[in-house]
Amino acid sequence: MTISLGTASAAPGESDIGRLDVGETRDGSSVGLPVAVINGADDGKRLYLQAVSDGDELNGLGVIRRVVPQLDPARLSGSILVVGIVNYHGFQVAEHRNPIDDRKLNRTFPGDPNGSSSERITAAVFEAAQTADYILDLHQGSTSRMIDEVRVRCGRRHRLHSQCLELAKVFDCGYVLDQKGPDGQLARVAPDEGVPTIDPELGGAVGFSETSVQKGVDGVFNVLRYYGFLDGNVSTTRQTRAKRFDQYGAPVGGLVDYRVDLGARVSSGEPIFEVTDPFGQSKATIEADSDGIFWRSRRLPQVAAGEYVCSVGTNLDSY
Ligand SMILES: [Zn+2]
Repeated sequence: MTISLGTASAAPGESDIGRLDVGETRDGSSVGLPVAVINGADDGKRLYLQAVSDGDELNGLGVIRRVVPQLDPARLSGSILVVGIVNYHGFQVAEHRNPIDDRKLNRTFPGDPNGSSSERITAAVFEAAQTADYILDLHQGSTSRMIDEVRVRCGRRHRLHSQCLELAKVFDCGYVLDQKGPDGQLARVAPDEGVPTIDPELGGAVGFSETSVQKGVDGVFNVLRYYGFLDGNVSTTRQTRAKRFDQYGAPVGGLVDYRVDLGARVSSGEPIFEVTDPFGQSKATIEADSDGIFWRSRRLPQVAAGEYVCSVGTNLDSY
């Protein structure tokens, strides 16, 4: 059966690229998201893959442009739908949000074809996404520094929770944040339609991070092999799971020095960062409130009182 996404259309054993129409720009030009369809020669499951729903998060696009050329439809069972750049307008200007309606796109699923700019985009991609058996929504910790991890956002009481956790384990970043997400996230909304979905967070970078991109490429191929799209075996490994995420702000203004490295274990009471004045005088040392893993931190050292500094993943276990 021929499979289409926007103008991309592929018969079994073929692939195609095209554009998915999501309306018009201010000058009346049509806006089409770049899409690809890889239709396997043999029957199987369907994977939906997307990136850049936050316009400054490029590692997922780095994954897609490396994965797609390696996919041979003649050797694929099932099909793969890809939206390379979801937040079209944010991507043009390297901004996180969609500048047309100033919304975070990943709070607007399942979207609305007659709604705001972001809602029109998410409605168009969600129509394709919900036809899939699995969804990978590639993200990163924006331009902050962050470990490579995978988020399960459906909530631990959801009927698809164990399937989402399995998908996260197969993707294999080593770390999983298992915490119900805010309304309007794809990884929260799609499981309600019966599609196991994860939100791999591929580090944090300005531009591309090679190690995070490669981890994402490996993760996509793990998923393709484990769920039978491609031949080959995948042995899963234990993941460290955090069920809570503690955020730390600066109590005073100044310049931040970290006392622990990204990915390090921290203990309750252990100093995690210090703030100094411009002349090197220490103004405050901040200790961890709980045991956990040093998960994410701001990139720039200067902070105002109350400004976000870092996050620690807590309530840890492994599975
Ligand atoms: Zn994101």
